Amino acid sequence: MTCRFLSSHTPLVVTLPAAGLILGAITLLAAEWKSGKIWEEPKIVEPGDNGRPPSDAIVLFDGNDMSDWKNADDWEIKDGAVTVNPRAPGMKYATTKRSFGDCQLHVEWAEPEEVKGSGQGRGNSGVYLMSRYEVQILDSYHNPTYYDGQCGSVYKQYPPLVNVCRKPGEWQSYDIIFEAPRFDGSGKLIKPAYVTVLQNGVLIQNHSEIQGSTSWDHPPTYEAHPERAPLQLQNHGDPVRFRNIWIRELTPQTFTMSDKPASE
Ligand code: MG
Repeated sequence: MTCRFLSSHTPLVVTLPAAGLILGAITLLAAEWKSGKIWEEPKIVEPGDNGRPPSDAIVLFDGNDMSDWKNADDWEIKDGAVTVNPRAPGMKYATTKRSFGDCQLHVEWAEPEEVKGSGQGRGNSGVYLMSRYEVQILDSYHNPTYYDGQCGSVYKQYPPLVNVCRKPGEWQSYDIIFEAPRFDGSGKLIKPAYVTVLQNGVLIQNHSEIQGSTSWDHPPTYEAHPERAPLQLQNHGDPVRFRNIWIRELTPQTFTMSDKPASE
């Protein structure tokens, strides 16, 4: 039996044993490289359809109640959204009952349809990661303010890469990937926090190294805290609406080294 390889010019006729030798030689010359690392099989997660959270997400607000939060009992829930109550005593921040460290967070919000105030006084709220590190929420649609305080900034640390804000009243989204800081036993910082943010699907913070807690009247500073802390939504006195809030806890990928040669 023969095997026929056709080129554009001349037919080449090769016997099957010869073809086997050629393939063997090619295999020897192009041995597959393997890392030698043994990984756990990635678990199966059902993606969310039509804006629904993925199957392994912790839903923090599904449009019905704020039972997973503190300090938001008097925030109005209506039409699947919850609105910051500017008249709440003490204007406390809504705070999750659970604590989180490394995470992927999805938050949707809408600025007040009625445009009032200017600069930092227009549609101000914020996502406080670990109750300390603010990703700013602000109506930055034709509303100038200092760049490292506009919507999508890590407050007073980094402006957003671009201004991708929608008009007041329109729903917007943040998808945040956050790496919590690490401290040693004596409280010394050994790894800063990092944050990546997509606003409305557009990258606005790219693995930004957080310099410390965010504050209006203090420079950023790190103070040792646990590996997990509650998430907060800021009450800055503006009736910003929120919906569809979910979070996925992240764990570092780990592997073991194979005792076999890496190429096997
Ligand atoms: Mg704010």
